Amino acid sequence: MRNDLWLQERFNKIWETLFTDIERKNNVLVKFKGRWKNKFGHIRLLKDKSSEIVINSLFKNEKIPEFIIDLTLAHELVHYSHGFNSPLERKHKHPHKGNIVNKDLAKRGFGEMLRKEKDFIKKDWPLLFKNLHPSYKPKRIRLFRFF
Ligand SMILES: [Zn+2]
Repeated sequence: MRNDLWLQERFNKIWETLFTDIERKNNVLVKFKGRWKNKFGHIRLLKDKSSEIVINSLFKNEKIPEFIIDLTLAHELVHYSHGFNSPLERKHKHPHKGNIVNKDLAKRGFGEMLRKEKDFIKKDWPLLFKNLHPSYKPKRIRLFRFF
């Protein structure tokens, strides 16, 4: 079952194996939250200085491939490593400028997953989203973007 504990264990595994160069300088919370169409996850800094990583809770459904969850966790961890919403030194001016997140992910071995994710967003996600959140009414038209 995909619950918050499952998610945290997955996140820790990714950090321990693929982000060993990144120091864990504060408490990092990971949980499922929200039912977004245009966002897979985000990272923010809480008042108590913990970092909180949130993954779209629609991804609890087994129809969503696990690699999508892994890639979203890794994406947010790259933000953390670049000093965005983390206590680490800020390495860039903007979190997504110049494709810095995907470049970092590719260097860490996620290149094939990134290609598969592109396909997933284009071919599978629109219909999956409709099925997982049938009552969704868009407030305004918005393009998919990463956070
Ligand atoms: Zn991002």
